[in-house]
Amino acid sequence: MYIYTSEQIKAADQLAEKRGMSTFSLMENAGCGLYHAICPYLSTNQKLLIASGKGNNGGDGIVLARYLKMAGFEVDLIFPLGEPKTGVAKQHLHYYEQCGFPVEEWNPNQTYDVIVDALLGVGAILPLQESLVEWIKWMKSMKATIISIDVPTGISSNSGVVDQNAIKADYTFSLHGYKPSRFLFPSSHFYGQVEVVDIGLPQKSNWRVWTEKDVQKSWVKRETNAHKGLFGTGLLIAGSHEMPGSAALAASSAMRFGIGKLTVNTTQHASAIIGPIVPEVTFLYHTYEELVRSEWKNRRFTCAAIGPGLDPTDDLEKLVTYLLKQNVPLILDAGAIQSRSYPRGEKPIILTPHPGEFSRLLQLSTKEIQENRIELASEYAVTHHVILILKGEYTVIAFPDGTGYINTTGNASLAKGGSGDALTGMLLASIEGNDCVKAAVLNAVYIHGVCSDEWVRKYSEHTFVSSDFSSLLPMICKSFEK
Ligand code: ADP
Ligand code: ADP
Ligand code: MG
Repeated sequence: MYIYTSEQIKAADQLAEKRGMSTFSLMENAGCGLYHAICPYLSTNQKLLIASGKGNNGGDGIVLARYLKMAGFEVDLIFPLGEPKTGVAKQHLHYYEQCGFPVEEWNPNQTYDVIVDALLGVGAILPLQESLVEWIKWMKSMKATIISIDVPTGISSNSGVVDQNAIKADYTFSLHGYKPSRFLFPSSHFYGQVEVVDIGLPQKSNWRVWTEKDVQKSWVKRETNAHKGLFGTGLLIAGSHEMPGSAALAASSAMRFGIGKLTVNTTQHASAIIGPIVPEVTFLYHTYEELVRSEWKNRRFTCAAIGPGLDPTDDLEKLVTYLLKQNVPLILDAGAIQSRSYPRGEKPIILTPHPGEFSRLLQLSTKEIQENRIELASEYAVTHHVILILKGEYTVIAFPDGTGYINTTGNASLAKGGSGDALTGMLLASIEGNDCVKAAVLNAVYIHGVCSDEWVRKYSEHTFVSSDFSSLLPMICKSFEK
């Protein structure tokens, strides 16, 4: 499922027009598609209100009203902002009236079971006009089911910005594809349940949602004569006296997710904790400086992850700079996420900031990050030539070629110390277990989320801990094997 900015939608509209598909036909497709998508949620004994705006979003509402009326639904069509002003919406209104259907005046004393919000679409400019606010307040007092078309009125299309009087929909039917605000904050919480309605527009976007089918298609089965050397000889530089567990969690997830061999460089104290949890790993006890001096050359590590449970010191930065030159897949998390430049090697460099870490990196507030997660992650990935995984609900995965994905698995049970450490381990294993870098990264993020989804299907969301990945991964991974 693809994600389109308002500019991309406009460009697709124009391309369709150039190729001979009129805006009038697209509006007809939209209204008809909406009718078929919305119908299963309605019953004929409900009283419906369609509130249409003056633009094309309103036009879609007019066509929907005609289909619903023709099917025998009791529908009132009103124009709280005044009658349509775009040519095609006017044309559709003319046809609606020619079919014998009236336009109603807003009657605040009338009650409705369902209200369709076809007021403002991707062309909306915030804040909302005062005249609309009065109407929205009345609408909210109605306690009807609210269905928004394309985007709920009062939220923007491309950013997470929300008007203080924005409509909170129960359902949103988006046209052609998702809009970025569906996955941004706080806007995503205004959408309710979302469905996409195809209206016959051309063009695909370079952003989309990674799905279960994608994971199944890209899942790699091991050859029968496989040996451990094929699945990576990883170095995990993690865990400190104060935070030994982060290395244990990353290491156990890496082993469970299939890495061939793993060495953990950590403190003696941390290894005493990690060893009993993950007996499969070997240990190094080097300072950062010692690692730079000798170990890499001797050991021939094929991939590395650095950062969980580490403080961002100058020495650590020197080690990261050294590792960046080794031309192996490298995952930078937590303490290793610092502002720096990156070489343009062929091997992937993966950064895994949570919104707080990304806000420090970009010197923006977390509010600004959350409102523009997709754009900011993409900009960073393209400019620095790295893979940027911006964590949190709807994790954003941006690639240096300008493509990007949204992950929709995972839930608030992951909002607990250690969840990100487990992801780092899974990424390290995944990158060595799949020749396709994109699939490797996306599958790790997807399955990390599925583990927590499986947990909350059975248990309370409060009770999930990161150590549980270890027992969930065997079953979850099995479900993706062909
Ligand atoms: P869409 O209907 O899909 O949002 P259009 O560009 O066709 O896109 O229509 C937008 C219409 O809504 C324009 O008439 C514009 O003036 C109006 N509009 C945009 N923002 C607001 C707002 N905050 N309050 C009221 N009307 C608005
Ligand atoms: P830590 O450093 O404690 O291990 P991070 O903050 O680095 O944790 O990572 C937290 C992980 O949990 C990320 O993968 C993030 O996407 C996930 N996560 C946290 N909260 C949510 C949520 N509400 N919904 C979905 N995923 C979440
Ligand atoms: Mg973390």
